[in-house]
Amino acid sequence: MELFDVYSLFDVVPVKASGCRIWDDKGSCYLDLYGGHAVISIGHSHPAYIEALTEQVNKIGFYSNSVVNPLQQELAGKLGDISGYGDYTLFLDNSGAESNENAVKLASFHTGKDRVIAFRKSFHGRTSGAVALTDNPAIVSPFNSHHKVSFCELGDLAAVEKELSGGDVAAVIIEGIQGCGGINIPSDGFLRALSDLCGRYSAVLILDEVQSGYGRTGKFFAHQWAGIRPGIITMGKGIANGFPCGGILISPEFKAVKGMLGTTFGGNYLAMAAALSVLDVISGENLLQNAREIGEHIMNSIPKDFRIKEVRGRGLMIGLEFNTEIASIRKSLLYDRHIFTGVAGKNMIRLLPPLCLSKEEADAFLNAFKEVLS
Ligand code: PLP
Repeated sequence: MELFDVYSLFDVVPVKASGCRIWDDKGSCYLDLYGGHAVISIGHSHPAYIEALTEQVNKIGFYSNSVVNPLQQELAGKLGDISGYGDYTLFLDNSGAESNENAVKLASFHTGKDRVIAFRKSFHGRTSGAVALTDNPAIVSPFNSHHKVSFCELGDLAAVEKELSGGDVAAVIIEGIQGCGGINIPSDGFLRALSDLCGRYSAVLILDEVQSGYGRTGKFFAHQWAGIRPGIITMGKGIANGFPCGGILISPEFKAVKGMLGTTFGGNYLAMAAALSVLDVISGENLLQNAREIGEHIMNSIPKDFRIKEVRGRGLMIGLEFNTEIASIRKSLLYDRHIFTGVAGKNMIRLLPPLCLSKEEADAFLNAFKEVLS
Protein backbone atom coordinates (compact mmCIF):
# COMPACT_ATOMS: atom_id res chain seq x y z
CA MET A 1 0.00 0.00 0.00
CA GLU A 2 1.23 3.52 -0.81
CA LEU A 3 0.78 6.54 1.45
CA PHE A 4 -1.86 9.10 0.44
CA ASP A 5 0.46 11.67 -1.05
CA VAL A 6 -0.52 15.04 0.47
CA TYR A 7 2.73 16.25 2.04
CA SER A 8 5.73 17.89 0.37
CA LEU A 9 8.66 16.23 2.11
CA PHE A 10 12.38 16.90 2.23
CA ASP A 11 14.54 13.89 1.46
CA VAL A 12 15.93 13.51 5.02
CA VAL A 13 15.31 10.48 7.24
CA PRO A 14 15.93 11.36 10.90
CA VAL A 15 17.05 8.49 13.10
CA LYS A 16 18.20 10.27 16.27
CA ALA A 17 17.77 13.67 17.92
CA SER A 18 18.93 15.53 21.00
CA GLY A 19 18.21 19.13 22.10
CA CYS A 20 18.15 21.20 18.91
CA ARG A 21 20.05 18.64 16.81
CA ILE A 22 18.80 15.87 14.51
CA TRP A 23 20.88 13.10 12.87
CA ASP A 24 19.83 11.42 9.65
CA ASP A 25 20.34 7.82 8.47
CA LYS A 26 23.58 8.82 6.73
CA GLY A 27 25.10 10.18 9.96
CA SER A 28 24.71 13.89 9.07
CA CYS A 29 23.83 16.27 11.89
CA TYR A 30 21.25 19.05 11.41
CA LEU A 31 20.35 22.09 13.52
CA ASP A 32 16.59 22.17 13.99
CA LEU A 33 15.09 25.68 13.92
CA TYR A 34 11.59 24.46 13.14
CA GLY A 35 10.80 21.77 15.74
CA GLY A 36 8.20 19.96 13.60
CA HIS A 37 5.91 23.05 13.32
CA ALA A 38 6.65 24.38 16.86
CA VAL A 39 6.04 21.01 18.48
CA ILE A 40 9.43 20.55 20.15
CA SER A 41 9.27 22.87 23.14
CA ILE A 42 11.86 21.46 25.56
CA GLY A 43 14.23 19.96 22.98
CA HIS A 44 14.37 16.59 21.24
CA SER A 45 14.77 13.50 23.44
CA HIS A 46 15.16 15.49 26.67
CA PRO A 47 16.42 12.92 29.25
CA ALA A 48 13.74 13.84 31.84
CA TYR A 49 11.03 13.51 29.18
CA ILE A 50 12.32 10.14 27.98
CA GLU A 51 12.50 8.93 31.57
CA ALA A 52 8.95 10.10 32.36
CA LEU A 53 7.52 8.40 29.28
CA THR A 54 9.51 5.19 29.82
CA GLU A 55 8.42 5.01 33.44
CA GLN A 56 4.80 5.53 32.43
CA VAL A 57 4.96 2.86 29.71
CA ASN A 58 6.32 0.39 32.23
CA LYS A 59 3.78 1.34 34.88
CA ILE A 60 0.57 1.16 32.96
CA GLY A 61 -0.56 -1.71 30.80
CA PHE A 62 -4.24 -0.82 30.70
CA TYR A 63 -6.35 1.95 29.25
CA SER A 64 -9.54 3.36 30.66
CA ASN A 65 -11.15 6.74 30.41
CA SER A 66 -14.08 6.17 32.74
CA VAL A 67 -11.91 6.14 35.88
CA VAL A 68 -10.01 8.84 37.73
CA ASN A 69 -6.62 9.62 36.16
CA PRO A 70 -4.62 11.52 38.81
CA LEU A 71 -2.08 12.65 36.21
CA GLN A 72 -4.74 14.89 34.67
CA GLN A 73 -5.33 16.64 37.99
CA GLU A 74 -1.61 17.01 38.52
CA LEU A 75 -1.26 18.57 35.07
CA ALA A 76 -4.18 20.95 35.70
CA GLY A 77 -2.54 22.09 38.96
CA LYS A 78 0.89 22.67 37.42
CA LEU A 79 -0.52 24.31 34.31
CA GLY A 80 -2.66 26.64 36.43
CA ASP A 81 0.43 27.70 38.41
CA ILE A 82 2.79 28.25 35.50
CA SER A 83 0.26 29.96 33.22
CA GLY A 84 -1.40 32.18 35.83
CA TYR A 85 -4.79 30.64 34.96
CA GLY A 86 -5.31 28.61 38.16
CA ASP A 87 -8.95 29.76 38.36
CA TYR A 88 -9.75 28.36 34.87
CA THR A 89 -10.63 24.71 34.19
CA LEU A 90 -8.87 22.35 31.78
CA PHE A 91 -10.37 20.07 29.13
CA LEU A 92 -7.89 17.70 27.50
CA ASP A 93 -7.98 16.49 23.91
CA ASN A 94 -5.52 15.39 21.23
CA SER A 95 -4.54 18.19 18.85
CA GLY A 96 -4.73 21.87 18.03
CA ALA A 97 -7.62 21.50 15.59
CA GLU A 98 -9.61 19.49 18.11
CA SER A 99 -8.96 22.15 20.75
CA ASN A 100 -10.35 24.85 18.45
CA GLU A 101 -13.37 22.67 17.60
CA ASN A 102 -14.06 22.22 21.31
CA ALA A 103 -13.61 25.92 22.02
CA VAL A 104 -16.07 27.00 19.36
CA LYS A 105 -18.57 24.33 20.37
CA LEU A 106 -18.35 25.37 24.01
CA ALA A 107 -18.79 29.04 23.10
CA SER A 108 -21.86 28.15 21.06
CA PHE A 109 -23.36 26.05 23.88
CA HIS A 110 -22.64 28.84 26.35
CA THR A 111 -24.10 31.73 24.33
CA GLY A 112 -26.79 29.84 22.40
CA LYS A 113 -25.48 31.57 19.24
CA ASP A 114 -24.02 30.06 16.07
CA ARG A 115 -21.81 32.56 14.23
CA VAL A 116 -18.03 32.99 14.63
CA ILE A 117 -15.68 35.80 13.64
CA ALA A 118 -12.17 34.84 12.53
CA PHE A 119 -9.40 36.86 10.89
CA ARG A 120 -7.82 37.13 7.46
CA LYS A 121 -4.66 34.96 7.12
CA SER A 122 -5.76 32.84 10.10
CA PHE A 123 -4.96 29.16 10.48
CA HIS A 124 -6.86 27.10 13.04
CA GLY A 125 -6.47 23.49 11.83
CA ARG A 126 -7.69 20.96 9.28
CA THR A 127 -10.75 19.31 10.79
CA SER A 128 -14.10 20.47 9.40
CA GLY A 129 -14.92 23.16 11.95
CA ALA A 130 -11.32 24.31 12.40
CA VAL A 131 -10.66 24.59 8.68
CA ALA A 132 -13.86 26.62 8.28
CA LEU A 133 -12.27 29.16 10.66
CA THR A 134 -9.14 29.22 8.49
CA ASP A 135 -8.64 31.86 5.80
CA ASN A 136 -7.28 29.65 3.02
CA PRO A 137 -9.82 28.74 0.32
CA ALA A 138 -7.41 26.12 -1.07
CA ILE A 139 -7.97 23.85 1.94
CA VAL A 140 -11.67 24.51 2.65
CA SER A 141 -14.08 22.00 1.08
CA PRO A 142 -17.72 22.82 0.16
CA PHE A 143 -18.80 20.88 3.27
CA ASN A 144 -16.57 22.98 5.56
CA SER A 145 -17.74 26.27 4.11
CA HIS A 146 -21.29 25.78 5.41
CA HIS A 147 -20.22 26.91 8.87
CA LYS A 148 -21.26 30.47 9.71
CA VAL A 149 -17.90 32.26 9.81
CA SER A 150 -17.12 35.89 8.90
CA PHE A 151 -13.54 37.03 8.34
CA CYS A 152 -12.25 40.47 9.36
CA GLU A 153 -8.86 42.06 8.71
CA LEU A 154 -6.49 41.70 11.65
CA GLY A 155 -6.57 45.07 13.45
CA ASP A 156 -9.90 46.26 11.98
CA LEU A 157 -11.95 46.85 15.12
CA ALA A 158 -14.77 48.64 13.28
CA ALA A 159 -15.32 45.58 11.06
CA VAL A 160 -15.39 43.31 14.11
CA GLU A 161 -17.90 45.55 15.88
CA LYS A 162 -20.12 45.64 12.81
CA GLU A 163 -20.25 41.83 12.79
CA LEU A 164 -20.82 41.65 16.54
CA SER A 165 -23.59 44.22 16.52
CA GLY A 166 -26.03 41.72 14.95
CA GLY A 167 -26.07 39.98 18.35
CA ASP A 168 -25.72 36.47 16.86
CA VAL A 169 -21.96 35.93 17.28
CA ALA A 170 -20.95 33.17 19.70
CA ALA A 171 -17.19 33.69 19.48
CA VAL A 172 -14.30 35.65 18.07
CA ILE A 173 -11.25 33.45 17.48
CA ILE A 174 -7.76 34.87 17.06
CA GLU A 175 -4.23 33.46 17.16
CA GLY A 176 -1.91 34.91 19.81
CA ILE A 177 0.41 35.51 16.86
CA GLN A 178 -0.58 34.30 13.40
CA GLY A 179 1.86 31.52 12.48
CA CYS A 180 1.05 29.96 9.11
CA GLY A 181 -0.39 33.30 7.92
CA GLY A 182 3.05 34.94 8.25
CA ILE A 183 3.98 35.87 11.86
CA ASN A 184 1.40 38.66 12.07
CA ILE A 185 1.28 40.07 15.58
CA PRO A 186 -2.01 41.60 16.73
CA SER A 187 -1.12 44.78 18.64
CA ASP A 188 -1.61 44.73 22.40
CA GLY A 189 -4.12 47.59 21.98
CA PHE A 190 -6.11 45.63 19.40
CA LEU A 191 -6.29 42.57 21.65
CA ARG A 192 -7.45 44.67 24.61
CA ALA A 193 -10.12 46.40 22.52
CA LEU A 194 -11.22 43.05 21.08
CA SER A 195 -11.57 41.65 24.59
CA ASP A 196 -13.71 44.66 25.58
CA LEU A 197 -15.89 44.33 22.46
CA CYS A 198 -16.49 40.63 23.14
CA GLY A 199 -17.56 41.51 26.66
CA ARG A 200 -19.92 44.23 25.41
CA TYR A 201 -21.63 41.96 22.84
CA SER A 202 -21.59 38.78 24.98
CA ALA A 203 -19.36 36.87 22.57
CA VAL A 204 -16.61 34.56 23.79
CA LEU A 205 -13.04 35.60 22.97
CA ILE A 206 -11.08 32.46 21.99
CA LEU A 207 -7.30 32.76 21.91
CA ASP A 208 -5.72 30.13 19.69
CA GLU A 209 -2.35 29.61 21.37
CA VAL A 210 -1.67 26.29 19.64
CA GLN A 211 1.46 27.66 17.95
CA SER A 212 2.19 30.84 19.93
CA GLY A 213 1.63 29.37 23.40
CA TYR A 214 3.57 27.23 25.82
CA GLY A 215 6.39 29.72 26.29
CA ARG A 216 7.19 30.23 22.62
CA THR A 217 7.03 34.05 22.74
CA GLY A 218 8.75 34.39 26.12
CA LYS A 219 5.49 34.55 28.09
CA PHE A 220 3.49 31.40 28.71
CA PHE A 221 0.83 32.58 26.24
CA ALA A 222 1.39 35.26 23.59
CA HIS A 223 -1.78 37.16 24.57
CA GLN A 224 -0.30 37.72 28.04
CA TRP A 225 1.89 40.44 26.51
CA ALA A 226 -1.40 42.38 26.18
CA GLY A 227 -2.57 41.58 29.70
CA ILE A 228 -5.97 40.24 28.59
CA ARG A 229 -7.84 37.18 29.94
CA PRO A 230 -9.80 35.44 27.16
CA GLY A 231 -12.88 33.27 27.68
CA ILE A 232 -11.15 30.20 26.22
CA ILE A 233 -7.50 29.47 25.39
CA THR A 234 -6.63 26.63 23.01
CA MET A 235 -3.40 24.62 23.14
CA GLY A 236 -1.58 21.90 21.22
CA LYS A 237 1.84 21.42 19.59
CA GLY A 238 4.45 22.10 22.33
CA ILE A 239 2.21 20.89 25.17
CA ALA A 240 3.76 17.39 25.15
CA ASN A 241 6.90 17.90 23.03
CA GLY A 242 5.78 15.63 20.21
CA PHE A 243 3.43 13.25 21.97
CA PRO A 244 -0.07 14.01 20.54
CA CYS A 245 -1.94 16.15 23.06
CA GLY A 246 -4.15 19.24 23.12
CA GLY A 247 -6.36 21.07 25.53
CA ILE A 248 -8.41 24.15 26.31
CA LEU A 249 -8.40 26.46 29.33
CA ILE A 250 -11.91 27.60 30.18
CA SER A 251 -12.75 30.69 32.23
CA PRO A 252 -14.80 30.27 35.41
CA GLU A 253 -18.07 31.62 33.95
CA PHE A 254 -18.51 28.44 31.88
CA LYS A 255 -20.55 25.71 33.52
CA ALA A 256 -19.54 22.11 32.77
CA VAL A 257 -22.44 19.81 31.88
CA LYS A 258 -21.84 16.05 31.77
CA GLY A 259 -21.42 14.87 28.20
CA MET A 260 -20.99 18.37 26.77
CA LEU A 261 -17.46 17.60 25.48
CA GLY A 262 -15.67 14.30 25.15
CA THR A 263 -12.92 12.29 23.47
CA THR A 264 -11.55 8.76 23.73
CA PHE A 265 -7.85 9.53 23.97
CA GLY A 266 -7.82 13.05 25.49
CA GLY A 267 -5.75 13.16 28.68
CA ASN A 268 -4.38 9.62 28.24
CA TYR A 269 -1.65 8.40 30.59
CA LEU A 270 1.29 8.73 28.24
CA ALA A 271 0.22 12.17 27.03
CA MET A 272 -0.08 13.29 30.65
CA ALA A 273 3.35 11.93 31.58
CA ALA A 274 4.81 13.77 28.59
CA ALA A 275 2.92 17.01 29.34
CA LEU A 276 3.92 16.97 33.02
CA SER A 277 7.55 16.53 32.13
CA VAL A 278 7.33 19.42 29.63
CA LEU A 279 6.09 21.79 32.35
CA ASP A 280 8.80 20.64 34.78
CA VAL A 281 11.51 21.28 32.21
CA ILE A 282 10.05 24.63 31.10
CA SER A 283 10.17 25.95 34.66
CA GLY A 284 13.31 24.06 35.79
CA GLU A 285 15.37 25.32 32.85
CA ASN A 286 13.87 28.81 32.66
CA LEU A 287 12.86 28.30 29.05
CA LEU A 288 10.55 31.34 28.86
CA GLN A 289 13.46 33.63 29.66
CA ASN A 290 15.67 31.74 27.21
CA ALA A 291 13.05 32.12 24.46
CA ARG A 292 12.87 35.86 25.13
CA GLU A 293 16.65 36.40 25.19
CA ILE A 294 17.66 34.16 22.29
CA GLY A 295 14.74 35.39 20.19
CA GLU A 296 15.79 39.00 20.74
CA HIS A 297 19.40 38.11 19.93
CA ILE A 298 18.37 36.50 16.62
CA MET A 299 16.06 39.33 15.61
CA ASN A 300 18.71 41.97 16.42
CA SER A 301 21.44 40.09 14.55
CA ILE A 302 19.76 39.27 11.23
CA PRO A 303 22.06 40.82 8.63
CA LYS A 304 20.89 43.87 6.70
CA ASP A 305 20.16 42.68 3.18
CA PHE A 306 18.22 44.35 0.37
CA ARG A 307 16.14 41.17 -0.07
CA ILE A 308 14.87 41.19 3.52
CA LYS A 309 11.72 43.27 3.85
CA GLU A 310 11.01 42.81 7.56
CA VAL A 311 12.01 40.73 10.57
CA ARG A 312 9.17 40.29 13.03
CA GLY A 313 8.26 38.06 15.92
CA ARG A 314 8.32 37.59 19.64
CA GLY A 315 10.60 35.22 21.53
CA LEU A 316 11.34 32.17 19.40
CA MET A 317 8.48 32.71 16.95
CA ILE A 318 10.22 34.64 14.21
CA GLY A 319 9.43 35.51 10.61
CA LEU A 320 12.04 36.70 8.12
CA GLU A 321 10.02 38.28 5.34
CA PHE A 322 11.74 38.66 1.97
CA ASN A 323 10.87 40.77 -1.07
CA THR A 324 11.56 37.67 -3.14
CA GLU A 325 10.71 33.97 -2.94
CA ILE A 326 12.75 32.09 -0.35
CA ALA A 327 12.60 28.47 -1.60
CA SER A 328 16.24 28.41 -2.79
CA ILE A 329 17.56 30.06 0.41
CA ARG A 330 15.70 27.54 2.53
CA LYS A 331 16.95 24.62 0.43
CA SER A 332 20.51 25.87 0.70
CA LEU A 333 20.15 26.21 4.49
CA LEU A 334 18.94 22.61 4.67
CA TYR A 335 21.10 20.78 2.15
CA ASP A 336 24.32 22.87 2.23
CA ARG A 337 24.32 24.07 5.87
CA HIS A 338 22.19 21.34 7.49
CA ILE A 339 19.72 23.72 9.13
CA PHE A 340 15.97 23.09 9.26
CA THR A 341 13.74 26.16 8.92
CA GLY A 342 10.05 26.60 8.16
CA VAL A 343 8.10 28.84 5.81
CA ALA A 344 4.95 30.92 5.77
CA GLY A 345 3.78 31.50 2.21
CA LYS A 346 6.42 31.90 -0.50
CA ASN A 347 8.35 34.88 0.89
CA MET A 348 8.86 34.15 4.57
CA ILE A 349 11.27 31.93 6.48
CA ARG A 350 9.61 30.96 9.76
CA LEU A 351 11.74 30.01 12.76
CA LEU A 352 10.15 27.96 15.55
CA PRO A 353 13.12 26.29 17.26
CA PRO A 354 12.99 24.37 20.52
CA LEU A 355 12.82 26.83 23.43
CA CYS A 356 16.19 25.59 24.71
CA LEU A 357 18.09 26.97 21.68
CA SER A 358 21.47 28.21 22.93
CA LYS A 359 23.25 31.42 21.90
CA GLU A 360 25.95 29.31 20.18
CA GLU A 361 23.30 27.48 18.15
CA ALA A 362 21.60 30.78 17.29
CA ASP A 363 24.98 32.16 16.16
CA ALA A 364 25.62 29.05 14.06
CA PHE A 365 22.35 29.79 12.25
CA LEU A 366 23.16 33.50 11.90
CA ASN A 367 26.58 32.76 10.36
CA ALA A 368 25.15 30.16 7.98
CA PHE A 369 22.33 32.54 7.01
CA LYS A 370 24.83 35.33 6.24
CA GLU A 371 26.87 32.93 4.06
CA VAL A 372 23.81 31.69 2.20
CA LEU A 373 22.68 35.27 1.52
CA SER A 374 26.10 36.24 0.19
N1 PLP B 1 -4.01 26.47 15.40
C1 PLP B 1 -2.83 26.99 15.00
C2 PLP B 1 -2.52 28.42 15.29
C3 PLP B 1 -1.90 26.19 14.33
O1 PLP B 1 -0.74 26.71 13.92
C4 PLP B 1 -2.23 24.84 14.08
C5 PLP B 1 -1.28 23.96 13.36
O2 PLP B 1 -0.39 24.39 12.68
C6 PLP B 1 -3.46 24.35 14.51
C7 PLP B 1 -4.33 25.19 15.17
C8 PLP B 1 -3.85 22.91 14.27
O3 PLP B 1 -3.13 22.06 15.11
P1 PLP B 1 -3.10 20.48 14.78
O4 PLP B 1 -2.31 20.33 13.52
O5 PLP B 1 -2.43 19.88 15.99
O6 PLP B 1 -4.48 20.04 14.64
